[in-house]
Amino acid sequence: MKVTCCVVTAFLLALSARAADEVIALKAARLFDGKSNALVQNAVVIVEGDKIVDVGSNPQIPTSARLIDLGEVTLCPGFMDAHTHLTDDYSGNYNERRLREIDLNVSEQAIRATVFARVTVEAGFTTVRDLGSRFVASHEFVDVALRNSINKGLIVGPRMLVATKGIGATGGHFDPTNGFRDSLFGREPDYTDGIANGPDEIRKAVRFEVKNGADVIKAAVSGGVLSLIDEVDTPQFTPAEIAALVDESHRSRKKVAVHCHGDQVAREAIEAGVDSIEHGSFMKPETLAMMKKKGTFLTPRSWRPNGVRISFGTDAAVFPHGQNAKEFKVMVDLGMNPLEALKSATGNAAQLLGISQKLGTLEKGKLADVVAVPGDPTVDITATEHVSFVMKEGKVIRQGPREAQNTENTASPDLAAPAD
Ligand SMILES: [Zn+2]
Repeated sequence: MKVTCCVVTAFLLALSARAADEVIALKAARLFDGKSNALVQNAVVIVEGDKIVDVGSNPQIPTSARLIDLGEVTLCPGFMDAHTHLTDDYSGNYNERRLREIDLNVSEQAIRATVFARVTVEAGFTTVRDLGSRFVASHEFVDVALRNSINKGLIVGPRMLVATKGIGATGGHFDPTNGFRDSLFGREPDYTDGIANGPDEIRKAVRFEVKNGADVIKAAVSGGVLSLIDEVDTPQFTPAEIAALVDESHRSRKKVAVHCHGDQVAREAIEAGVDSIEHGSFMKPETLAMMKKKGTFLTPRSWRPNGVRISFGTDAAVFPHGQNAKEFKVMVDLGMNPLEALKSATGNAAQLLGISQKLGTLEKGKLADVVAVPGDPTVDITATEHVSFVMKEGKVIRQGPREAQNTENTASPDLAAPAD
């Protein structure tokens, strides 16, 4: 009797779980599927629970479905930004930002980050790869906490793949004490801050980050713009250090993204097998050719026609969060085909992030991350800046005007500004 009871209870539970899976039919004038070279007209996406169960031009709409007719819009896969810093805000005045960095306590920074997460997903970016989160003289993993809180449904935000602290050399671009008076923060940063020197210490730093929740490993192999002491194109890791970084990360099945401006160290990083070069500002044509051959992704802040695999990445935090889509126009203005620009933030980005089995395209069986942009983005790419509907894993996050705004800094992004 007891067994029968359990069986009946399990059956009823399964039945109620099925009943909770509402069927939604999204109807729109057209659709971009994330990989094709043409749009689908008179598009319908049918969503059941968190998944897409049918998609195409005029498919059969189940009678039980709740119809959401979005009208004169183009449905796209949820956009992905492969380079954000959702826990930070580097926009505005440099000196004010630097003061804020040591002034705000980390809990306050974490609360601000929930606002940044919300404006990002409301702008249509349902997935981000968050490439570095650190607070000088603090060991908090705010990006991990933000990711987990979003996954648990406590707050609204994009799906996050986080890098934790970003690994770099003493005095390098990622050294949080770079440019401050010696001993101001009481001690020299070490591998627990992401600062590591020599192959063994770099392996230790990777292991420490994986232990603390990193989904992806980020390292600065060259200097950067927003750090005071180092020159932007100087190599900051030796080939042996980069080899250790890549080997240790890949052993843990983590991809490696490297902040890299200079050409010499870009070549060394590509050779060592990094998965993506972030920025790549000074790369020579022969280095780009090498990258193309190896299949290494480039996440540029300003795209150049070079034939390498491009993933959309904005470095959001360098400009106000939620304005990620402005990068599409930058890409198109530089000569990229609008459909290729859209692919860089959907199908291609999903490949770089290692999530293309589940996301990046509007196909049967994929998770239902769907956004709508007004009109036709292949005619006017700035339509992506006016996302009117956002669905993440089958849940409608926004339909109509945006509610939350990043009120702290409403300045236009300086898209000509160099990345970090
Ligand atoms: Zn960055």
